[in-house]
Amino acid sequence: MSDMRSLLRVGSTDPDVPVDLAAIDPNSTPGLPGRKTTGRDPKVWARAELELMGAELATQQEMLFAQATVEPQLGRSVLLVLQAMDCGGKDGAVKRVAGAMNPLGLHIKAFGPPTPEERRHDFLWRIRKALPPAGYVGVFNRSHYEDVLVVRVNGLAPESVWRPRYQKINDFERRLVGAGTTVVKVMLHISRDEQRERLTQRLVDPTKHWKFNPDDLDSRAKWDDYQAAYGEALARCGTDEAPWYVLPANRKWYRDWALAHLLRETFADLNLSYPQPDYDLAAQRRRLEADG
Ligand code: AMP
Ligand code: MG
Repeated sequence: MSDMRSLLRVGSTDPDVPVDLAAIDPNSTPGLPGRKTTGRDPKVWARAELELMGAELATQQEMLFAQATVEPQLGRSVLLVLQAMDCGGKDGAVKRVAGAMNPLGLHIKAFGPPTPEERRHDFLWRIRKALPPAGYVGVFNRSHYEDVLVVRVNGLAPESVWRPRYQKINDFERRLVGAGTTVVKVMLHISRDEQRERLTQRLVDPTKHWKFNPDDLDSRAKWDDYQAAYGEALARCGTDEAPWYVLPANRKWYRDWALAHLLRETFADLNLSYPQPDYDLAAQRRRLEADG
């Protein structure tokens, strides 16, 4: 399999040319081996592989944490930024993929509308406060990108305010990466039909009523505006330092499998290992044995 990152990467060419989301099929499954290769139903196979990858991610995360504990000044962190239209599957992806890792090493933050206090500060203020410390895997369920998405589409701020934010975001992320955080930005891409399906579920299934928000229907009515706003954000902020990936997300089992792959590749680049002890191992063992 070619690596997932090159398959899903967008926006690396011309920042002035928006990413055309309509050209990416939300039902597609890039990188997924076919039934002929695996000999199994793709969904069953992907779910089983996700379990194996989850264990690997947990080990990688532990090494990240261990290294930062032993050498805090060299400690690194990973930040996964998840964006999607409503019902895009962010919560499910957090549960299934981040959920495979140790909760102790996770730093998860969901961003809703800014509070009155947050509104008094620059849009990146609340983001900076939520960044993962060294050794942690951070997950943003929505992010600073809302400030060029919902803010733009709903006219919550004039263009003279949101337009300069692309550059501010790029500067912010470049500094973040320079300081030792690997940033992985993923847009979970669903179709308008799939969103209808999922919204319907939320209205039909009493255990999902709480997830439905009547405002979601207003956002849905602005689907094309959102897709355009996404297209521009992906193009302007899909940088080499902090790339954007568009992950076809109509199929939940593919979504989770592909996201786990992206994270695995990200960890692999970090070349993590368990730290060597800074004490004399043999001497400590002798001490313990002498202790009886
Ligand atoms: P949910 O993720 O379903 O809990 O919804 C969170 C809501 O917060 C969404 O409707 C977002 O559009 C909204 N939101 C998140 N960040 C911002 C922001 N910076 N400005 C305005 N609305 C936001
Ligand atoms: Mg919602």
